[in-house]
Amino acid sequence: MNESIRDFLQGRLWLKELLPFPEEEVAEGLERGWIGVLPGIHRQNRRFLPDRLRCNRCLSTESASFASFDCARCGKVCQYCRHCIRMGRVASCDELVYWAGPERPSDPPPGLSWAGRLTPAQQKASEEILESLRLGRPHLLHAVCGAGKTEILFRPVHSLLEEGKRVCIATPRTDVVLELLPRFRAAFGDATVHGLYGGSGPGEGFAPLVIATTHQLYRFRHAFDVIFVDEADAFPYSFDRTLRDAVKKAAKPGGSAVFVTATPSAVMLAETEGGGRSVIRRRFHGHPLPVPRFEALWNYRKQIAAGRLPKRLSEWIAERLSSGDPFLVFFPSVRLMEQSLPLFNELDGRIGAVHASSRERRELVRALRDGKVPGLLTTTILERGITIPGLQAAVLGAEDSVFSRSAIIQIGGRVGRSADRPDGDVVLFHHGITPEMDDAVREIRKLNREEEVPDGLPAVR
Ligand SMILES: [Zn+2]
Ligand SMILES: [Zn+2]
Repeated sequence: MNESIRDFLQGRLWLKELLPFPEEEVAEGLERGWIGVLPGIHRQNRRFLPDRLRCNRCLSTESASFASFDCARCGKVCQYCRHCIRMGRVASCDELVYWAGPERPSDPPPGLSWAGRLTPAQQKASEEILESLRLGRPHLLHAVCGAGKTEILFRPVHSLLEEGKRVCIATPRTDVVLELLPRFRAAFGDATVHGLYGGSGPGEGFAPLVIATTHQLYRFRHAFDVIFVDEADAFPYSFDRTLRDAVKKAAKPGGSAVFVTATPSAVMLAETEGGGRSVIRRRFHGHPLPVPRFEALWNYRKQIAAGRLPKRLSEWIAERLSSGDPFLVFFPSVRLMEQSLPLFNELDGRIGAVHASSRERRELVRALRDGKVPGLLTTTILERGITIPGLQAAVLGAEDSVFSRSAIIQIGGRVGRSADRPDGDVVLFHHGITPEMDDAVREIRKLNREEEVPDGLPAVR
């Protein structure tokens, strides 16, 4: 048996054409039944209904996901899936392969070199997760931004790896993968950990621990005993049904899921119903969450279009520039942000701007952390996964629909995360207060008011 094909392919679902192995070795695996095959696109014949297509990689069945083309390879008219096209085209004449041979023996259990201490609330949540894993039920960890969620996961993940189980931590955001990867690698020094995201490459061989964007789960099938879905409410997981299906497909039959979030959605509450639940209302340093304040900025768009920054906004920036506190200003659109950047640069030429497709995003965030730039303009792309001591945050245009309740809570969650700087300003500049803004503030106040009580339920007031 070819062990390197086994190690690579076990738990994956891969386009046969793109397997990084010589053709004759792949052919031998197919012949001996070690490699299983699924058609790229499956045509479902339904009684009394038109045929339906399903992409076997992303499981999309939406008719809008499929398009026909004259296929040069097979000479026929083929369909391909538009929904997962960013991961390479899957067409009806493509074959998706998976490992069907004998399983790879488990690796020796890794050590846990993380030596930090958990707060009592973190400890409790960690034990509750372990309990749910033992019972094989789903679990929801609802922890405020800055509760120290990663540390809570170390022990449960470690105990799974010790048992020879395979574990995935999935998150919608590449930035979060990049933030978690070095921390888990440092904690489990002798385990192979793959970090998978758009452009990362597939990782070599087999990894018992995979940290991946939720999109990368399309490339797995029956792989994981447990999947931790981090920041599960973040776009696009909350909107995209196929991503939820991808979590199910990537899990082994009977595998379980742990959802980790600061802002649980209705879907998530439904999916974990009957499972375990942990709630942490306090940040690890024990200080309350900063409460966003509202500042009216009437007709700010007109002022910016006329080439000047609204006075209150430029005063806010000037204060941060003189105190030297790093800051983020969140924008509802790339267009407004780019229109505003030259005006901010009149205050300080080093202020930069980042959005989803900016290439220098990572460099700019690092420069902000290192104090080389005083502040950044950003879209909601930086609403999560960023920890910078002393950070202050402003939203320009908080009335825009992109600033949902959970987006505002997450943005507020960037501020006051470190123990020596537990406070900071979160200001929502707006042209009219929305229900989402009110809801976010109400929820933060509620979390701050509630005390931890022994049974984990909110104190009644
Ligand atoms: Zn697809
Ligand atoms: Zn074809």
